[in-house]
Amino acid sequence: MISTNTPTDQLQRLDAAHHTHPFTNNAELAEKGARVITRAEGCWLTDSDGNRILDGMAGLWCVNIGYGRHELAEVARRQMEELPYYNTFFQTTHVPAIALSQKLAELAPGDLNHVMYSCSGSEANDTNLRLVRTYWEAKGQPQRKAIISRWNAYHGSSVGSASLGGMKGMHMQGGLPIPDIHHIDQPNWYLEGGDLSPEEFGLERARQLEAKIQELGPDNVAAFIAEPVQGAGGVIIAPETYWPEIQRIVDEYGILLIADEVICGFGRTGNWFGTETLNIRPHIMTMAKGLSSGYQPIGGSMLCDEVAQVINQIEFNHGYTYSSHPVAAAVALENLRILEEEHIVDTVRTDTGPYLKEKFESLTDHPLVGEAKIIGMMGSIALTPDKSARAAFKDPGTAGFVCRERCFANNLVMRHVYDRMIISPPLVISKEEIDILIARAWKALDETYSELKANGVLNA
Ligand SMILES: *Cc1c(COP(=O)(O)O)cnc(C)c1O
Repeated sequence: MISTNTPTDQLQRLDAAHHTHPFTNNAELAEKGARVITRAEGCWLTDSDGNRILDGMAGLWCVNIGYGRHELAEVARRQMEELPYYNTFFQTTHVPAIALSQKLAELAPGDLNHVMYSCSGSEANDTNLRLVRTYWEAKGQPQRKAIISRWNAYHGSSVGSASLGGMKGMHMQGGLPIPDIHHIDQPNWYLEGGDLSPEEFGLERARQLEAKIQELGPDNVAAFIAEPVQGAGGVIIAPETYWPEIQRIVDEYGILLIADEVICGFGRTGNWFGTETLNIRPHIMTMAKGLSSGYQPIGGSMLCDEVAQVINQIEFNHGYTYSSHPVAAAVALENLRILEEEHIVDTVRTDTGPYLKEKFESLTDHPLVGEAKIIGMMGSIALTPDKSARAAFKDPGTAGFVCRERCFANNLVMRHVYDRMIISPPLVISKEEIDILIARAWKALDETYSELKANGVLNA
């Protein structure tokens, strides 16, 4: 039997032999060997060689309360002993589902008072896709099938959710997108704003929604889906003019607004939900990730009263074996208790968030950094060969990849999306740890600069 005491190279060989990693060139990974993570505590990971690594990404944007909270383990153990599983398909329910739904209705803004569960964000968006079309059918408007999304959005990896997403590299594989999904451009001013001011550009990008609705025919559009802040697309924070104009258009045409809160939800932007930070009023919210801080796989769709009322009048033929799984629900509820009772969201908004913002924005003093943008505890910097021109690298992603490798070598997890470097640390990160994060990021940027210079990338 292998264990965490098995030598690293043996674990790596076995991993390469039998484990196909997601979003990975597995042949290349097999050459160098995957890093084996063995333990984690707070904001720190430990690998099989005993290195301590600062996790600037909270896993995959999800470990909001940090690693190692034994309360969640305790709740899971108790729930497994009492009722490890039962479904909610056949006119049955259970206490964890009831309690979590009540809590979510209390936390969610406005009249988002109803939850339909899933095990992930992808599944929740698949639910949303079928649900909004079914909603319009139930209202006697079956022709409303079109769903509008944005290029470079991330809504998941299943057939439905990846179709909703706007990742061209994903659409290229496996015959996506499915029909009746349409994409407009993203509000990425830094890369695509040209000579427009951010304000002008925000309006231009929002008005693409109106143009698309008119092109498709206003009576054919079911919904618009968007992340309040694009996460996997590179932490793209829209100009301030963008969301008010989107809200005007959604209201005017009476289409449904789905806010994908999978990353933004549960404190990431300094409020419980990104829609509160950005003053958006969605009809449906997608949740996952921070809902359980990643301790259990759980997701869900939060529905407003009107949408729930329409759906509740029919039998919606949809659900997953593990929808409202009792262990996942109990763990999520405990996670929400910790977020609330330890004032973690308030601390992000009023204390550690502003501290991180100040330090993070100071990275623009580095010669390689063209801009730094951050909201709450999700931020990104743009690497550039020429700061004054907002220039892009010739071969997008090369500089970002080098920088990510330099971060890893300095025991900091930071991710890259092409040439944007991203952070999304656990919400419990302390000011001391923020200082370490920034110092290591700075060192990694220096090393990246030297490496790019040596390779002629900077003078090209
Ligand atoms: C991660 C993510 C998803 C997909 O969630 P999974 O749990 O990976 O299926 C959907 N939407 C957004 C915004 C995400 O960041």
